[in-house]
Amino acid sequence: MKITKLEAIPFRMPMRETVKFATGQLSALDHVLVRVYTDEGLVGQSEAPSRPMVYGESAISIVAAVRDWFGPALTGLDPFATEQAWARLDRVEHNPTAKAAIDMALYDIIGQAAGVPLYRLLGGWSNEVELSHILGLGTPPQVAEQAQRLIAQYGFGTLKLKAGIDPVRDTAMVRAVREAVGPSIRLHIDVNHGYSSLVATRVVPQWEPYDIAWVEEPCPGWDVRGRELIAAATSIPVMADESCTTVVAVMDEIRRGTCRLMSIKNARTGYTQSRKIIDLCEANGIVPVTGSQGDTEIGAYASAHFHAAHRCTASGPGELSFFLDTEASLFTEPIQIRAGKFMLPDTPGLGLQIDEGKLAHYRVA
Ligand SMILES: [Mg+2]
Repeated sequence: MKITKLEAIPFRMPMRETVKFATGQLSALDHVLVRVYTDEGLVGQSEAPSRPMVYGESAISIVAAVRDWFGPALTGLDPFATEQAWARLDRVEHNPTAKAAIDMALYDIIGQAAGVPLYRLLGGWSNEVELSHILGLGTPPQVAEQAQRLIAQYGFGTLKLKAGIDPVRDTAMVRAVREAVGPSIRLHIDVNHGYSSLVATRVVPQWEPYDIAWVEEPCPGWDVRGRELIAAATSIPVMADESCTTVVAVMDEIRRGTCRLMSIKNARTGYTQSRKIIDLCEANGIVPVTGSQGDTEIGAYASAHFHAAHRCTASGPGELSFFLDTEASLFTEPIQIRAGKFMLPDTPGLGLQIDEGKLAHYRVA
């Protein structure tokens, strides 16, 4: 089998409400559907989310990278040859989500060719995903009310709260949510680099009475010494996300020994690099956590297969329900969440059932 062409389809999916966090906000998702075609009729697909504040990519830059560089580089290659594919992709620097989407689309083809769903091909630990739902910034009563409503509606057992702009409001929000949801719901807090390390060193320990499972990126990612001081000042474990977006960055963080948890985002490291990262984590006592890149259902499925496949990720919840906040589903059958979980289908590959009419509606070029 040979790759015949790559296609990049940009689309804009509006959010029901703007989701705010310390480094920005999302009122719509500017993503790119990447399709890899083969001479045997199999087509692999995945999603590249543009997040310029983290990766410096735009939907237009992703389309151009696929059209001008990665498509020509991979045409003619065997889609099973993922190591060869990465050697060719890495001739161009950066563009992490474009490369990751191509990698996952190749695996979609491999799964289809093998006739097995990717959660089985990648490790087969499970076929279900327990969810951790993300709530955007808001006032303490707003976030507490939203937390109660979503738990009642979907049965979530874990929520991730956003903080990082106003320490007084954030601490009041943490208290209000804990009081509203009771002791059995697991809470994570993502500061999104919003505090200085000096502020975080003082504020994060104030959250200890509220049973916070971990705090994510409490200070700017470059401030590695500050992060060490924060970790030393609190019993709440620290998690790395945007400060560790490559295998080498994860290795450096593990050597420093500051973070106890590591965010795995298939949207930026695909399957091939994500697997190297979870191996590093497992061997070094670091907990890998499947993170959200604000994925639509396409990206949620792509990450869900990886999450469910591996024991070390599936042992905790994945942040894979962000699509609930989008205006519409691109799937013919929207994902059903019950008891805070969803099940993956047994369709070979990723099992994406994309509604072409809806894709055409949200397509931007
Ligand atoms: Mg994060």
